[in-house]
Amino acid sequence: LRVTLTPIHRREHGISGTIAVLQDITEQERLEQSRREFVANVSHELRTPLTTIKSYAEALDEGALDERELGLRFVGVIRNETERMIRLVTDLLHLSRLDSNQAPLRRQQTNMPEMLEEVADRFSFQMRKKAIRVSVRVEDGITTVWLDRDQIDQVLDNLVSNAIKYTLDGGRIEIAAWRVHARAGGVDDQGRMQARAAGEAGDQGRMQARAAGEAGDQGRMQARAASEAGDQGRQEPAAIAISVKDTGIGIPKRDLGRIFDRFYRVDKARSRSMGGTGLGLSIAREIVKAHGGTISLDSELNEGTTVTFVLPLLTGGEPA
Ligand code: ADP
Repeated sequence: LRVTLTPIHRREHGISGTIAVLQDITEQERLEQSRREFVANVSHELRTPLTTIKSYAEALDEGALDERELGLRFVGVIRNETERMIRLVTDLLHLSRLDSNQAPLRRQQTNMPEMLEEVADRFSFQMRKKAIRVSVRVEDGITTVWLDRDQIDQVLDNLVSNAIKYTLDGGRIEIAAWRVHARAGGVDDQGRMQARAAGEAGDQGRMQARAAGEAGDQGRMQARAASEAGDQGRQEPAAIAISVKDTGIGIPKRDLGRIFDRFYRVDKARSRSMGGTGLGLSIAREIVKAHGGTISLDSELNEGTTVTFVLPLLTGGEPA
């Protein structure tokens, strides 16, 4: 609902008051609006590095080239900005493929403990540089899971690289995986479990967990189907939860509701200086959704952040 208030003053008639216009914004208009916002954001995000590149190229042209040290520094800036633009365009293409379902899942039996150890290994250099300790904890008995390895690796890479970016030197990162069991009436239970898994989130966190889980119904149905297909009925695990937890700077509560939005960043300058594109969490959410799962984030300012995603287990090794 859009409310427009127009104050009126007609001194000559001795009237004063307000005209209130209530407009029902249809879903169509909302979509149109978010599309416009998206295009504006993309343009802005591309324009910023382009402007920088242009001015540094001009400075080189106007004499900086003659001073070797300065020239090299300016070339370095141009390279960094170009790399950022490539990352941005790569992320945008990836998102657009996910949006138009042109990235069909290629599920394969994946060894979960191995996959998580490998993410930690991929980032070991970056973590060592910041003296960040990492641990990987996988519940006993979790072995292989049927998922798109490349895509889930991308989710994990985004989450772990965020955890490193937004954690101060000497911090800790914990990657964990555990089973989630469906209970009687599993539909709601799973949602609640997930909210709990996300770590005793406050109301806002829970609301967000729900919002983030728009894929919800499908995922839950699959989860239930998977659990009912098992011999033990409801005792079988229905899903696997994976979390990446850090002891970093955290996110203010007021930002939690929008944190999965495209280009939403708590601190634009900080994200930029870390090389961020503002699309990492949106991409993660789309990939998890495509797996029929949900993702949620819980955070305490100056204490740390936990991102948890839940993937419904598919039995029989058949693609979803
Ligand atoms: P970016 O490329 O800016 O990191 P993301 O979509 O990955 O974009 O994340 C969006 C924003 O969420 C970040 O800019 C940052 O403000 C916040 N954020 C994400 N992960 C964390 C984290 N682990 N700790 C603190 N803030 C985070």
